[in-house]
Amino acid sequence: MNPFKSKLDARIRAERMHVLVQNQPTSLISTLAVSLFLVYILAPVTSPMYGILWMGAMIALTSIRAVHLRKVKQLEASDYLAQEKWLLYGAFLSGSLFGSSVLVLFPYDNVGLQALLFFLMSSMIAGSVAVYSTHILAFLAYSLPIFLFFFYRAFTLTELFLFLAFIGIFYYVIMVTTMMRVNRSIIKTFNTQFLNHDLANNLSHAKENLEKFNHELFEENQAHLKTQKRLYHLANYDPLTGLANRNMFKESLKDSLKTAQQEHTTMAVLFLDLDNFKIINDTLGHAMGDKLLIGASSRLKSLINDKSFIARLGGDEFVIIVNEVQESEEISTLAQKIINLLEKPFTFDENEMYIGTSIGISLFPKDGQVAETLIAYADTAMYKAKEKGKNNYQFFNANMYDQMQFRHDIETKLHHAIAKNELRIDYQPKVDVQENRIVGAEALLRWEHTELGEVSPSVFIPIAEESSLINTIGKWVIQKVCEDLAFIREHFDASLSISVNISSSQILHQNLPELIGEHLQRHTLPPQSLELEFTENMLIKQSRKSIQVLHELDAMGIRLAIDDFGTGYSSLNYLKTLPIHTLKIDKSFITDTPLCQGDCAIVKTIITLAQNLNLSLVAEGIETTEQLTFLKNNGCHLIQGFFFSQPLDRNAFCTYLSEPGIENTLGYHLSSV
Ligand code: C2E
Ligand code: MG
Ligand code: MG
Repeated sequence: MNPFKSKLDARIRAERMHVLVQNQPTSLISTLAVSLFLVYILAPVTSPMYGILWMGAMIALTSIRAVHLRKVKQLEASDYLAQEKWLLYGAFLSGSLFGSSVLVLFPYDNVGLQALLFFLMSSMIAGSVAVYSTHILAFLAYSLPIFLFFFYRAFTLTELFLFLAFIGIFYYVIMVTTMMRVNRSIIKTFNTQFLNHDLANNLSHAKENLEKFNHELFEENQAHLKTQKRLYHLANYDPLTGLANRNMFKESLKDSLKTAQQEHTTMAVLFLDLDNFKIINDTLGHAMGDKLLIGASSRLKSLINDKSFIARLGGDEFVIIVNEVQESEEISTLAQKIINLLEKPFTFDENEMYIGTSIGISLFPKDGQVAETLIAYADTAMYKAKEKGKNNYQFFNANMYDQMQFRHDIETKLHHAIAKNELRIDYQPKVDVQENRIVGAEALLRWEHTELGEVSPSVFIPIAEESSLINTIGKWVIQKVCEDLAFIREHFDASLSISVNISSSQILHQNLPELIGEHLQRHTLPPQSLELEFTENMLIKQSRKSIQVLHELDAMGIRLAIDDFGTGYSSLNYLKTLPIHTLKIDKSFITDTPLCQGDCAIVKTIITLAQNLNLSLVAEGIETTEQLTFLKNNGCHLIQGFFFSQPLDRNAFCTYLSEPGIENTLGYHLSSV
């Protein structure tokens, strides 16, 4: 059976019982009232004892039923069904007792009262149609005994009443069919009512669900829109500075190019690269680097108007597109403004930092027609600006392109230099002019390429530093120098020491103390036989890591020197705090001594400084007797320069050391000073 239908049937049955119970008081009261009326009206013509007994029985039965009814009503409506049979018994007993009145109280001698009695009995049957309308069995239990007594009495009385008995059958059949019709229609009504109720409930649930679903859909949609927005932002904007990223820049450049082509206007691409950013980032840490980038970005944003567009390409590279350029001076002015704005100091956490900008500029349609070309040319011009001493701007021109190609070529070839055995170390002697002896040498890297020939370190070292190739090369240099030094000390002079040039990236990215310690140990070299040269600019931007490395090296007994001293832009504070042993006066101060008074003053000051701080002092780039005399007279005794020797390869350096009477040669040189 359909579970829904059986559930509905159960509910209808329960409801029918409920109505039955509700109607019971009416049934009890009306039966009792009519009974009282009967006893009263029939009292003169019937036996009083019968009347009292009959009425007593009726009152007792009605009372029992009333008490039972009270109990039933206290139950839950759903438990009424369990009481069904007792209600049926009650109805049957009431109907039977009431019907028995025609036997117990029948007025044999009074036809009028007889008619009244029959009338009241048929009225009770008619009344029970209404009272028991929901329950056919209860109706039959109550009305059938009344009818049977009625029929029996009428049938057995006189011929006159025999007719009434048959009319009674007819009447009762009509009552039963009426009752059944009423009952059916009530059940139908219940059915409809429950279905409607369920439908309304379902509808309201459906409405609730729909509203909930709608709400969820709305929320989902909002979340989706948010994600889409975030994805768009992530795909098109730089999360650090909030500027457009490379992706968006490319789109924007395409749009600008299209417009410029259609409207025959000039458009400029400015490629910016912050100067010294890498050093600050490596030495002061990425958090400081990030702050600097954010600061630089917000300054750049202040120069952007509705004709221009700015993006961060990555790292410290930015790019600006300027549309509808009237004349190139407009771009020069903007580039200069950018330079002026970014060279002002940045202050973060009480640290004052200086950077600069190198800017390369390419123009549409003059330099190129497509986006990629314009970007590449602006980039090339930017490199030219770097070469020209940084913090300036350059417009692209065709020569630059060749230079860039050259640079790229060098980088590619340098990658294979170690494997192809193209690198070598030359040694430039360092002479103590007071003691007339060679105290050591500076190791200078040389690259001899099969096609390019000898490439100057001032050309390939900056390229190697930019591409981080310097770490591999630097490692090779340390290893080779230790090997050569062990050989030289064993075969020539056991007191010689060698200086090695170290790049900033080696301090940060190589475990220098471990690397050097390993090679010293392998060749049983004392740590004092090695000196490391760092440029002044490297030491200005000290990070915790680099300071720690310097102290570790010092603790190992390795000597540390400042190369090109005097060319940095620093305060001299680091001389107090860092474990430095030697200063090397840069050759730019030596070249014009003793003629240039300014240079002489600087050199003298450096000599005094070194003496006061108890540091060794080496002068490099000495070419003439005059320069040597000036230095010697002022107290600088360690000399390096072409005056004594060019840098020599290992064999030549060994020959130089082993020449008979080298001290005499030096003495000869020196005596002529
Ligand atoms: P630096 O360390 O200041 O080296 C001194 C430079 O001056 C050398 O140039 C040397 O050949 C040159 N020089 C020495 N005496 C004279 C002189 O009397 N007159 C003139 N005009 N020049 C003289 P070089 O060998 O071209 O090296 C240039 C720079 O390349 C070096 O400057 C150093 O910074 C760098 N470098 C060389 N080798 C290495 C290396 O192995 N590693 C690193 N990181 N840098 C190196
Ligand atoms: Mg040097
Ligand atoms: Mg130098």
